[in-house]
Amino acid sequence: MLIVQKFGGSSVADAEKINRVAGIIADTYADGNDVVVVLSAQGDTTDDLIAKAAEINPKASKREMDVLLSTGEQISVALMSMALERMGLPVVSLTGWQVQMRTNFDYSNARILSCSTERIQQELDKRRIVIVTGFQGVNGMGDITTLGRGGSDTSAVAIAAVLHADKCQIFTDVEGVFTADPRKVPNARKLDEITYDEMMELASLGAQVLHNRSVEMAKRYGVDLEVLSSYVRKPGTKVKEVVKNVEQMKISGIAKDNNVSRIAVVGVPDEPGIAFKLFRVLANSKINVDIILQSIDRNGTNDISFTVSEADYEKTMQLVEERKDSLHYKELYGDKKVAKVSIVGAGMLTSSGVAALMFEALSDAKINIQVISTSEIKVSVLINEDDADKAVQVIHNKFFD
Ligand code: ASP
Ligand code: MG
Repeated sequence: MLIVQKFGGSSVADAEKINRVAGIIADTYADGNDVVVVLSAQGDTTDDLIAKAAEINPKASKREMDVLLSTGEQISVALMSMALERMGLPVVSLTGWQVQMRTNFDYSNARILSCSTERIQQELDKRRIVIVTGFQGVNGMGDITTLGRGGSDTSAVAIAAVLHADKCQIFTDVEGVFTADPRKVPNARKLDEITYDEMMELASLGAQVLHNRSVEMAKRYGVDLEVLSSYVRKPGTKVKEVVKNVEQMKISGIAKDNNVSRIAVVGVPDEPGIAFKLFRVLANSKINVDIILQSIDRNGTNDISFTVSEADYEKTMQLVEERKDSLHYKELYGDKKVAKVSIVGAGMLTSSGVAALMFEALSDAKINIQVISTSEIKVSVLINEDDADKAVQVIHNKFFD
């Protein structure tokens, strides 16, 4: 079998952990498999590099940030290769440009366009274990790019896809995908399986277990994906197209995202073009808008509420303030102390009353819902950030106890 194994930063944080991971890789290889390994930067390396850059130039260009941040992964692959060399195994480390991980020009948040199999295949043919840097690629000019925070998962899935790997295993410090963050919700359960769609929702809703673009890519190319622990050797969570769903669970998981701010544009005229003007301005500034809600007409005016990430909050407020005259609104409110709590489950397609159950849990806990938003397989609410952890716990109790 050809197996791609990805290990996250915490799994390779120090020498002891590197040796432990080397043991997993060595065993996979000893079983007769071809093994390609993708690594993240060690521990907090990426954050430390960002801090280091900020000391020199808080407004450093994204291009130079990528030159800097990509070094973290290069350290990991070299050290891992050394650990395997010491065990007497044939191994080679390769960077993003060596494997021709081609991306677009969007420095710091680049998208993968293609990845060559040539070099990796040559090495595998020599029965070498191939250790590749995650998170980085190279653009059409030959510049180093990075894929956005957490991007190594996507590197691993891309490599698994182009190599037609039999499996892509994402090793992390939790045992798989849980019904809620097990560090916050002690009775959270590990799922044996989850669908790509559910996983995509959970990943983009703030569950930190997988980079959402990696799941999107896995779905597109049908990559056999599994999330499992670097510490406990047992099956993790399989991410696939259809799951057996033996338990017929109504939902698969609950996610929380604190990085949310809510903006309300109150009293805009009820006429064509207002929403267009507002969101065009934000789109032009590359501000990502998440939940959008427009109230029904009341005496010829509407209210439009929407959410943006906390990083975009000040900019968004400023842009909307500057356009008070063209948007003709009466008031503008902003609130950063907001969190989004969401339930996700393919089971919602067939069972009714799922949303009501969530609202009941919040009501019993006297947690006020500010905004509700739903899609086919998820229900999200915006609540006060201070209530978020409690909200996740009470919703979890409601669905899983
Ligand atoms: N080292 C990068 C980060 O911390 C990429 C990754 O870990 O996936 O975001
Ligand atoms: Mg917030």
